[in-house]
Amino acid sequence: MVGEEDAVANYFPWHVVEHSRRDHDLQRYQGVKEEYLVEARSCPKCGTPPERLRWVYVRDDPQPSQLSQPPRCREGYLLICDACFLQVDFFCEHRI
Ligand SMILES: [Zn+2]
Repeated sequence: MVGEEDAVANYFPWHVVEHSRRDHDLQRYQGVKEEYLVEARSCPKCGTPPERLRWVYVRDDPQPSQLSQPPRCREGYLLICDACFLQVDFFCEHRI
């Protein structure tokens, strides 16, 4: 099981993805998706093209204990293959 998780690196913990997915304020940014579509990857497992993957605008607010750490990308567009339960690609919009 550990080996499988190593093979597929997640950009974000799944609970963060789910939380963002339910946040309608975040999902209204979906408009710029077209700009990224040209460079987006297909699902490496089933080959679903990026335009048919699920695009979720994800934001991972830093915990108080993480605020002293150097900024990293915590916000942007995440491409998910629902069939494979895979985080296929990520486009950074904002470093926090
Ligand atoms: Zn897939």
